[in-house]
Amino acid sequence: MEVIRGIGRMREFVREQRLAGKQIGLVPTMGYLHAGHLSLVQEALKACDVVVMSIFVNPLQFGVGEDYEDYPRDLTRDSELAEEGGVAAIFAPSVAEMYPPGGYYSYVDVEKLTEGLCGKSRPGHFRGVTTVVTKLFNIVQPDIAVFGQKDAQQAIVIQRMVRDLNMPLRIIVAPIMREADGLAMSSRNVYLSPSERKASLVLSRALNIAGELAANGERDANVLRKAIETQIQAEPLARIDYVEIVGAEDLKPVEILQGRILIALAVFFGKTRLIDNRIVEV
Ligand code: AMP
Repeated sequence: MEVIRGIGRMREFVREQRLAGKQIGLVPTMGYLHAGHLSLVQEALKACDVVVMSIFVNPLQFGVGEDYEDYPRDLTRDSELAEEGGVAAIFAPSVAEMYPPGGYYSYVDVEKLTEGLCGKSRPGHFRGVTTVVTKLFNIVQPDIAVFGQKDAQQAIVIQRMVRDLNMPLRIIVAPIMREADGLAMSSRNVYLSPSERKASLVLSRALNIAGELAANGERDANVLRKAIETQIQAEPLARIDYVEIVGAEDLKPVEILQGRILIALAVFFGKTRLIDNRIVEV
């Protein structure tokens, strides 16, 4: 496995693979890999020959006061995990390689779908995501790219961007990988103190309760939201950012559950903001 730092070499690697007749898959990440990231690699390997994983903590998608500086980074460990996971090349550019000093002026913006949920709590976040993902698509020119359902809104926004802008690749969305006790895997879980780690189980528990309510015939979105909020508010270390029940495709809030519904939440444990979600089909 090769660790590539420069855009020039990345393009050359891709050219070599194409000449050899290989289909290329891209798995964009911010690194500090866990089994969730590696499951995306597995999905990619089902659909293409050669997987490139990008590892880039993108300053553009962090707001003021967020955890850009503190975000965990360990390229040595990531390289070992990625190689074991079947990645052919890591693309790990510096910030200066992606945003050369002296001015950066071009952005990609997806409207509407970025207004609610995490877009509301983190203004500018999705503009940073769609801009860097477009740059990665242009640099790697993959046939497919894999994103996680863990970041449900991100996956929908990227799919819409690819469709609206006729980007020549296919997006695959892979299921959420969880720890044995239910916590959705995240690089940010390392921030949690032992007591916060225990408290964080309330997220998957609350989503499961909502899922059961829906499975038992409850169709009032407010009842589900209240049930989730009650669970989370009973946990003293948890502070709700949002609990939303929206259409799984258009992300519009729903009153009555019908069709594919996304139940999404973001909750702070101390300074750590965790997200989780669940799809229900009624
Ligand atoms: P990140 O490094 O957190 O930006 O995540 C990179 C990619 O991995 C995104 O597409 C995420 O949705 C995906 N991902 C993160 N955590 C998980 C998880 N627990 N299960 C599946 N995919 C995940």
